[in-house]
Amino acid sequence: MKTINIAIDGPAGAGKSTIAKMVSAEMGYIYVDTGAMYRAVALYLTENNIPDEEAEKHVDEVEVSLKFVDGTQRVYLGDRDVSDLIRTPEISMAASRTSAIPAVRARLFDLQQKLARENNIIMDGRDIGTVVLPYADVKIFLTASAEERAKRRYKELSEKPDCPSYEEILKDIIQRDYNDMNRETAPLKQAEDAVLVDTTELTLEQSAARIAEIIKERV
Ligand code: C5P
Repeated sequence: MKTINIAIDGPAGAGKSTIAKMVSAEMGYIYVDTGAMYRAVALYLTENNIPDEEAEKHVDEVEVSLKFVDGTQRVYLGDRDVSDLIRTPEISMAASRTSAIPAVRARLFDLQQKLARENNIIMDGRDIGTVVLPYADVKIFLTASAEERAKRRYKELSEKPDCPSYEEILKDIIQRDYNDMNRETAPLKQAEDAVLVDTTELTLEQSAARIAEIIKERV
């Protein structure tokens, strides 16, 4: 049976994961966060002191897998759940570099396509509509200004200890956007047939409602 595949791409902090989680729960689809896979590979390389230049030689050792517990994705390195460990600014930046390595992308590509063949999914990332699922039933490109994305990230992190400043967060976001858009393999860009949604002026609820509407019109 053909599965339904929905691709959501866009830059860091546009709200992809929060919105995709809300919409997938409503529709009974699995939500796949591909950024978590790149983060897990980056964590592996960091923990094992493997520099990016040597990553290609080690990529086959990295056992990344996803499990879904009550519809929520957990990411594993071997049999270790690393879902929380990958959410640091250090790993965000490392993942941004690691994800430019073609061998890393090739390894995760197969895993992502398999998940899409076997499940009705909403998958988010940077290259889902352009490279991973070019035949997705619905493609959305979700964006917002860099300042608005940094403001949201700052608000989210401000209750945690060691919260970076707004300026640091903005600088990281701009750097990651630059890395994602300018790499040679699978750069971040809007697929020709993707619907553009700019959430700069929208609340989370308004953004989720707009995405749910786009999906329901097409599926
Ligand atoms: O989405 P998230 O910010 O967690 O992703 C971490 C990093 O992984 C991003 O900065 C991006 O460089 C990379 N990524 C990618 N392709 C994807 C998903 C994420 O290159 N499909």
